[in-house]
Amino acid sequence: MEYEGQICRGPMERASFMLPISVGCSYNQCRFCMLFKHLTYRELPMEQIEAELQRVRSVGGNPKQVFLGDGNAFSARTDRLLAILDRVHQAFPACESVHMDATIHDILRKPAQELEALSAAGVRTLYLGIECALDDVLAQMNKGQTVAQAEEAIEKLHQAGMRYGAHMMTGICGKGRGLENAQALAEFYNRTRPDRIVNFSLFLHRRAPLYQDILAGRFVPADELENLREERRLLELLETDGLSYDGFHDFLPFRVRGLLPRDKEKMLQKLDEAIETYAEQEPAVAFVE
Ligand code: SF4
Repeated sequence: MEYEGQICRGPMERASFMLPISVGCSYNQCRFCMLFKHLTYRELPMEQIEAELQRVRSVGGNPKQVFLGDGNAFSARTDRLLAILDRVHQAFPACESVHMDATIHDILRKPAQELEALSAAGVRTLYLGIECALDDVLAQMNKGQTVAQAEEAIEKLHQAGMRYGAHMMTGICGKGRGLENAQALAEFYNRTRPDRIVNFSLFLHRRAPLYQDILAGRFVPADELENLREERRLLELLETDGLSYDGFHDFLPFRVRGLLPRDKEKMLQKLDEAIETYAEQEPAVAFVE
C-alpha cells in the first residue's frame, strides 16, 4: 500500500506492522505540527485495508503487533474500528496487540462500553500527545485539550483495560519554562502512569504556524541546552515503575533511553555529560526547513 504522509512512529513501534486505515489527522490544528498539514483527513476504504492485509498474509506475514495509522486512527467510529480489528485477527492469527495514536477528545467522545469492546478486541496501547502539562501552553499551541481533560481520558482508557504511551516534546513551553514544564509533566505522568514515553523534543518548522508566533514575538524558543535540562529534571522526578523512556533530539547527536527506575542513574549521568558538553558550545535552536 502506498503511504501518504510522513511516518512518525515512536521507536517502540518499530516491530509493529503498520496498517494505514486513514490518511492525515482529523484534528490537524496543533501549531507546532507539520506532519499532516498538507493532507485532508480521510478514512481509507475497507476494501483497500482488506487488500493490504491479504497482501501481507499471502507472503507469510503474521505479525504479533499491529499499528493502525495514521495521525489519530482512533478517531474512527467504534463499529468501523471493530470491523477492522476483526479482519486483522482473521488475517493474522498471531496478532496479540493493536496500537494506534489517539487524541484526548477521541477517547472522551467514546462511551465506556465502546472502549471496553475495543480493549476486548485487542487494542492495548494508545499513544497520546501529552507534550506538556501547562494549560496556558496547551491553549497557545491550540492542542485542543486541557490537563484535566487528558487526565479524565486516561482514567477512562485505564478503566477499559488499555494502556497509554505519551508523546512529549521538551522545548514546547518556550524559553525559560523548561524546568516548570518538567515539574508539571512529571507530576502528571506519576499520577497517570504511562507505560512508555517518547520525547521527540521540539523541532521548529519554518512553515508551521508556530513559526509565525516566533516572528511575531509570541513564542521564544528554548535552545537545546535548556531542552536537555528539562529532560534531566523530568527523568529525575519520574517515579512510575516499569516505564520505558526514549528521548532524542533531532538537532543533536544525543539520545537517552532505558527502563525506569532501573536505568535512571545511568540516564541522568548521560544527560549530565551532555549538558556539560553543550554548555560550552554556542546555543543551538532546533529549526528545520
Ligand atoms: S493531534 Fe497530533 S498529528 Fe494531529 S495536529 Fe496535533 S500533533 Fe499533529
